[in-house]
Amino acid sequence: MSKPASSDRNEPSALKALNRRAEAILRARPAYKEMVDFYLVIFRRQIEWRSRLEVHPETVSAEQAAKCLTEGTPLAERFDPGIVPDSLLELWGEMKTVFGHGNDVLRQAVEKIDDAEKAGGFVPGTWLSEQRPGRGELVADAARLIGIDEPILASLAHAVTYPHWELVSQGWLPERRLDEWKRFRCPTCGGPPGLVEFRAESSSGVEGIKPAKRRFMHCSFCSSRWTVLPLKCPACGSSKSGDAKYLFTTDEKEWRIDFCKSCHHYMKAIDGDKVHGRVHVGLELLTAVHLDMLARDKDLKPLEVCA
Ligand SMILES: [Zn+2]
Ligand SMILES: [Zn+2]
Repeated sequence: MSKPASSDRNEPSALKALNRRAEAILRARPAYKEMVDFYLVIFRRQIEWRSRLEVHPETVSAEQAAKCLTEGTPLAERFDPGIVPDSLLELWGEMKTVFGHGNDVLRQAVEKIDDAEKAGGFVPGTWLSEQRPGRGELVADAARLIGIDEPILASLAHAVTYPHWELVSQGWLPERRLDEWKRFRCPTCGGPPGLVEFRAESSSGVEGIKPAKRRFMHCSFCSSRWTVLPLKCPACGSSKSGDAKYLFTTDEKEWRIDFCKSCHHYMKAIDGDKVHGRVHVGLELLTAVHLDMLARDKDLKPLEVCA
């Protein structure tokens, strides 16, 4: 399929942006170094492999996409994403090697996966092609069958499926179409949002007046990004004035925790204007775990629980 034109989708600039952001994060939060070093290898592979991956999403016309967006139907519920099992399998082999070099636990997990594949009880190509948000039982069942920890298998599967779904998302929904959506589940795959981004409009149109910040949701399954109403709560739908609250940390100017006073759900929110280039959801979520602890100290609940 054709490649998107945006400069951040271009391999060298995407790798440069990833490295620069990782360096900035580690300067501020060195405790994440070991985890970042490991996952950077995965994120780099995903970018480097982009041009080799194969997906053939069903053709969706502008009218068909607009109809789905207006009705609130994620495209993957109506159209075939055209995920190619052989392409998944190739990247699966590469990611298993990366995981196998991680540490003893990961190496043993990869060995068990290999054993299960050889024994014929686990067929990764089909299994990977069936991964969807809300189908956590696929991972849970396979992890039980193979005898490894569910988060390890989920992480390995995600490393493989994410760049494929990223291509599907880019093919189906270039960002110009997403203003019609304004819902909280992902317009491409239907998954829950993983991260909020607020970012200034390019210009307010009036000299001397700062441009307004727009609010976006990011999907961590397929990389889609879409706009939502600025104050509405994704969990309970409240848009009552005074319900939308924020928690800040003094030493991290790019982050805040958005929460709802009514239902106590929260999401992590990043200021896109303080991150150069496009927000890399995987890297940001990986290095914002301390914010979850902060939120839980305040008796807030992560949005994913209800989603
Ligand atoms: Zn999605
Ligand atoms: Zn709420």
